[in-house]
Amino acid sequence: MSYKTLDETSVIDYIQNRPAMRTLFPAGTDLSVEEVSDGNLNMVFIVKNVRHPKENAVLKQALPYIRILGESSPLTRERMRFEVQALLKQNELVPGLIPRVYDHDLDMSLVIMECLDEHEVMHKSLVARQRFPYFVEHITTFLVNSLFYTSDLYLTGLEKKELQAKFINPHLCKIQEDFIYTNPFMESEDNRWNPRLDQEVQEVRSHSELKLAIAEMKHAYMTHAEALIHSDLHTGSIMLNQDDTRVFDPEFSFYGPMAYDMAALLQNLVLIHLSHYAHTANREERESYQAYLLEMVRNIWNEFSRKFDQTWAANNRGDLMPRKYWDYPGGDEAFAAFRHNYITRILQETAGHGGTKFLRRMLGIVSVWAISTIEDPEKRAVAEKAAIRIGKRWLLERKQIRNIDDLIGIVAEETEGIVVP
Ligand code: ADP
Ligand code: MG
Repeated sequence: MSYKTLDETSVIDYIQNRPAMRTLFPAGTDLSVEEVSDGNLNMVFIVKNVRHPKENAVLKQALPYIRILGESSPLTRERMRFEVQALLKQNELVPGLIPRVYDHDLDMSLVIMECLDEHEVMHKSLVARQRFPYFVEHITTFLVNSLFYTSDLYLTGLEKKELQAKFINPHLCKIQEDFIYTNPFMESEDNRWNPRLDQEVQEVRSHSELKLAIAEMKHAYMTHAEALIHSDLHTGSIMLNQDDTRVFDPEFSFYGPMAYDMAALLQNLVLIHLSHYAHTANREERESYQAYLLEMVRNIWNEFSRKFDQTWAANNRGDLMPRKYWDYPGGDEAFAAFRHNYITRILQETAGHGGTKFLRRMLGIVSVWAISTIEDPEKRAVAEKAAIRIGKRWLLERKQIRNIDDLIGIVAEETEGIVVP
C-alpha cells in the first residue's frame, strides 16, 4: 500500500484490513477511534472495540513533516522505521517495559501497539506529586539491559556493527544536534526564553568555558557510538502507574553515548523538582515531594551502576575486553577497576549532557511540560534561573564528579534559600 495519511475515519478501514489485527479485532468488530496526538511530531490514534473497550490498540503514524510545525517543516517518514526497530529490539531486551508491538507497516510509516490505557504520562503524575514504588527498579532495568546488551561490552564487534548499521538515523540526530547542542547557545530565530532571563541567557552565550564544554558534549553525542540509546528519555516518553512502567516513543534512537539517556532522565526529574516551586504552594508538601524526587535521582543512579557492573561482570561476552584478556594474577581486580572507571565516566558525561539539556530547555525552542505550564512568568523564572545555575555547574564541574551526591549537592546548593514570589 502506498503512503497516505490516516484520519479518524480511515484508521478504522485500515485496521480492519490488517490480517495481524484479526486476533484482537475479529472481522465485523465495531471500532471507535480517538486522536490523542500530544507529542510534537506524529499522529496517535486510540482504537477500541466499542462493545469491549478494554480490547484496544494505539496506531501511531509519521507524517512527512513535523506535526506541530506543519507542512513547511518536512521531516523524513523514515523515523517510523527507527521507532519500529527500536520497539522490536527493546521487546527482546526488556519485555514488559515497553508497549508490545501488534503490527507495523513501513510503507504507511506506522506502528500498531499496545494501548497503555491504565497508565499516565509520567511528567503529569510527577507534577501531581504521585509516588511510584517500582519506578527505580523498572527504569534501571530498562537502562541497563537496553544499553549493556547493545554495546561492545556484550556484543561481538561484528554483531554490534550490524545492529548499528540499522540505526544510522541522520535526520533525527541532526534535530538533536542543532536544537540541543547548538542553536540555544547562539543567535537563532527559533530560540524562545522568558524575558526575565535576558541577562542569564546572554551570559551563557558568551561564556567561553561553558561553550567549550558544550562543544565537547556535542562531539560526544555525534561520535560516541556506545550503545543503542533511546535518545529522548525524558518523563514525557514514559507512561506508568503504581505497578507498571513503559518507555515509548523511541524514534530518535541511534548508536550514541550511554550517558545521554541517563542525562535526559535525571535532568528532567530535577527540572520537575524545580517546577514545584510554582506548582506546589504549600511549603511542607513541596519540600517533602522535592526530597522524594532527589532521592529518586540518587536511587536511579546507584541502582543503575550496581546492576550495570553486576551484569557486565557476569556477562563479559563482548569484544571489549574478552575474558581471556583479564586472565592473569591481578586480572580480576584490573577488570573491576576498568568497570568502575567506565561507570564513573558515564556519570561524568551524564553531568555534561544533563547540564547542556538544562540550559537548552531554558534558552532554546523546546521547553518541557512541567515548566511551560507555569503561567506566571515571575514564578516560572524562579525555576528557570535555578535550572540555568545548575546546568552551568553540572557542565563546568563534570570532570570532578565522583558520585551521584556530587550532582545532587549542586542542586541542593543552587536551590538553597529560594524564595517563592
Ligand atoms: P510523538 O512522537 O509525536 O512525540 P508520542 O509517541 O510521544 O508522539 O505520543 C503522543 C501521545 O500519545 C503520548 O503523550 C501519549 O499521551 C499518547 N500515546 C502514545 N503511545 C501510546 C500508547 N502506546 N498507549 C497510550 N497512549 C499513547
Ligand atoms: Mg514524544
